[in-house]
Amino acid sequence: MIPPRLVCSRGLWRSQSGGREQVEDCIFCKIAHGQVESQIVYQDEHLVAFDDINPQAPMHVLIIPRVHISSLLELGDGDEELVGRAHRLAARIARERGYDRRGFRVVANCGQDAGQSVPHLHFHVIGGRALQWPPG
Ligand code: 5GP
Ligand code: ZN
Repeated sequence: MIPPRLVCSRGLWRSQSGGREQVEDCIFCKIAHGQVESQIVYQDEHLVAFDDINPQAPMHVLIIPRVHISSLLELGDGDEELVGRAHRLAARIARERGYDRRGFRVVANCGQDAGQSVPHLHFHVIGGRALQWPPG
């Protein structure tokens, strides 16, 4: 099969049919496709959750969609379920680790000022210590 041509739209490589194929050189696409090792916590057809390589708290899990979506800004019609699934998964992981009582935080950094360093949508799930507010 001839691979669909990719076009760049607002920094996101999409097929002309509007699909969200794996993006070459995207570290999280590689993790989602098993091409780079990570400590996988959970995976299904929609989402992959794995431990952050540089944890900022006793629990620091990243939840990503399997498909490449570069940030919250690239969410579109029909992605509501995916985002909802990610948040329910965050709550499940936190509960399983006993952080439902103490509390935990779910964060999606978006863009330069927020310090987003990997342009593949991800939700940080952080817990296990008292977190500062407001964040730096
Ligand atoms: P951001 O700064 O984009 O909000 O978060 C990116 C996160 O991805 C950082 O917390 C960073 O430690 C983590 N990260 C970057 N590269 C890798 C990797 O190759 N493996 C894992 N497990 N985490 C990574
Ligand atoms: Zn990606």
